[in-house]
Amino acid sequence: MPATLAKGLIERIGEAGGDAADHTAALQQVMESIDLSNLGAIGHRVVHGGSLFSSATLIDDEVVETIERLVPLAPLHNPAALSGIAVARKLLPDVPQVAVFDTAFHQTIAPEGVTYAIDAGLAADWQIRRYGFHGTSHAYVARETAALLGRPAEEINVITLHLGNGASACAVQGGRSVATSMGMSPQSGLVMGTRSGDIDPTVIFHLHRVAGLPIEEIERSLTRSAGLQGLTGANDMREIQRRRDEGDPAATLAFAVYCRRIKEHVGAYLALLGHTDAITFTAGVGENSPAVRSAALQGLSTLGIEIDEARNNRGDRIVSPDAARVAVCVVPTDEELEIAEETRKALGA
Ligand code: AMP
Repeated sequence: MPATLAKGLIERIGEAGGDAADHTAALQQVMESIDLSNLGAIGHRVVHGGSLFSSATLIDDEVVETIERLVPLAPLHNPAALSGIAVARKLLPDVPQVAVFDTAFHQTIAPEGVTYAIDAGLAADWQIRRYGFHGTSHAYVARETAALLGRPAEEINVITLHLGNGASACAVQGGRSVATSMGMSPQSGLVMGTRSGDIDPTVIFHLHRVAGLPIEEIERSLTRSAGLQGLTGANDMREIQRRRDEGDPAATLAFAVYCRRIKEHVGAYLALLGHTDAITFTAGVGENSPAVRSAALQGLSTLGIEIDEARNNRGDRIVSPDAARVAVCVVPTDEELEIAEETRKALGA
């Protein structure tokens, strides 16, 4: 496994008070702050690869054009990735560049797992289907879970729960994604920091037709003022837990909605997989909140799912009792490391 030599974050590019005026300035800052003499390749995270990319791909002009064609599917995310790619290719033309897609890991999901039951012609014309996201994280965490349990990844089933600002669940069978909670966009599935997760689509028609909100305002509300933020005015699970401990009813409800949604997905994925060897929590909330882990899996002992609260509160890697049929694990995700690994594989190095 590669080792991390340097790590950094450039935020709010192009915004007033941000770290850099534009992507070129941002990348120049990166280039000035690290030793690039042995740089073998650059891995770019690209959120949406549509149905066209099922693995990390060496970037050339054609790949850039294809990612551009996918912008309508991810208007908030793919343009930023394209800027990064353009700048990196301009400033470092001799270094191979690889696109690593959030969607690629989920291309193994069977047609019945990605097809929405809508007009088939519309779906085909407009590329409407489930794609799934957080693929690098789910892939990495499932593999690390196998290593933690001392089992070959090809032989075990894992339900991975990526609970960060964005949140998604994935059923991983023998190292392959067979189901995931995000859909055509990263909006569906679990409750998130500011995104609603699953809702009845009629909510949108209702807000438009009855409440009179313009479509852009509805989109903004459901992506930025929904989820934990919408329910409580705070998007940080630490704050929700603090308020819940003080007896705040909105925070208590938000916490319960959040954990119940996770449990519903665990149940669904358990049924799909037939059995699971492990359930693994990752990302900000998953790695750091014993209360969420405990509440999300409460009452499932007849399914072999139990938590040892001493282990859970200590933040051990395995938080289930030794005798439990299903190992409940906490595995820190490392998307950068996984992107580096995928980049290396794409180059055949
Ligand atoms: P991520 O997107 O993976 O960086 O996760 C960010 C989120 O993790 C934050 O918005 C917090 O809600 C959550 N988080 C971080 N630390 C804790 C903690 N100790 N307890 C509960 N939630 C946490």
